[in-house]
Amino acid sequence: MSLSLADVLAARRAIAGVVVRTPLVPSPFMSARLGQDFLLKLETTQPVGAFKLRGAVNAVAGIDGDVRGVTCCSTGNHGRAVAFAARARGLRAVVCMSALVPKTKVDAIRTLGAEVRIVGRSQDDALAESGRLAREDGLVEISPFDDPLVIAGQGTIGLELLEDRPDLAAILVPLSGGGLAAGVALAARAIKPSIRVIGVSMERGAAMHQSIRAGRPVEIEEVPSLADSLGGGIGMGNRLSFPLCRDLLDDCVLVTEDEIYDAMQTLYFEDRMVAEGASVVGIAAIKSGRLPAFAGPVATVLTGRNVDMTSFTTIVNGGAVSLGDIEIEGRAYGA
Ligand SMILES: *Cc1c(COP(=O)(O)O)cnc(C)c1O
Repeated sequence: MSLSLADVLAARRAIAGVVVRTPLVPSPFMSARLGQDFLLKLETTQPVGAFKLRGAVNAVAGIDGDVRGVTCCSTGNHGRAVAFAARARGLRAVVCMSALVPKTKVDAIRTLGAEVRIVGRSQDDALAESGRLAREDGLVEISPFDDPLVIAGQGTIGLELLEDRPDLAAILVPLSGGGLAAGVALAARAIKPSIRVIGVSMERGAAMHQSIRAGRPVEIEEVPSLADSLGGGIGMGNRLSFPLCRDLLDDCVLVTEDEIYDAMQTLYFEDRMVAEGASVVGIAAIKSGRLPAFAGPVATVLTGRNVDMTSFTTIVNGGAVSLGDIEIEGRAYGA
């Protein structure tokens, strides 16, 4: 199975009208900090509050009408996107999630009319359940990242980025299972081979990063993170997103929970925007000084806004956050 720019262009036609062509806006604060234009791709403005709608709508559009329904595992946003896409086509949807998924995401999925199964404490448990439903109940399974239509759908972000700013030197992509990074890298590098595409993950449980280093998919221990949408493994049987990320990403950097905390505050106070921890890892990577200098403008994808607002307001107010096994010390912004 190989994917190309043609698949991404086909995805763009399939998702038009349902998925929003999102704005790309400058961050004056981060631009000054970087010494280059720094741009934010606002996937936070999608109807379900996250980019996952692109891949889910493309995948559901590719299903023959005559199925019993769809199923998936999810850290929240993919499930919400699949629920939205399935409802638009009148299909049953069953979303399998672990107990680590925040309640706000679970509730949103139920509101869209999908059935929710909470199973186990990890993405692997949720994945096993969606696989069982596919085998035993005949539902069509839609992987959050290891599916050609999902990757092509997420790749439409790469098209839009280079249409809006052909002069981009680099794109910083939040990285978990790698559907987003694979799609964006595939599209962007097909259009502009010199562009650099860099994946950013949290230090705690960076499955794709560790898999690339090991040369094969590896299992990681799943632990709570402010970037909850980046949790979970890449699947030991990964077929597509692993080889694509391995071959197409220029680099992979990791950020700490403290840096994610600071980046959430930064986006809020400097750009007046609300986003999930997973969305701001690109900002965290720049602020932490872990990236080399760039020869031109840099964009990052603000992947989603579906953050628990109680935690979010605690963070912007400089409060301490408890993440199960660790405590993140509170800190007023700029202090
Ligand atoms: C899913 C998700 C990601 C990571 O996408 P992958 O394709 O799994 O790498 C990043 N941010 C948010 C908000 C997400 O929901």
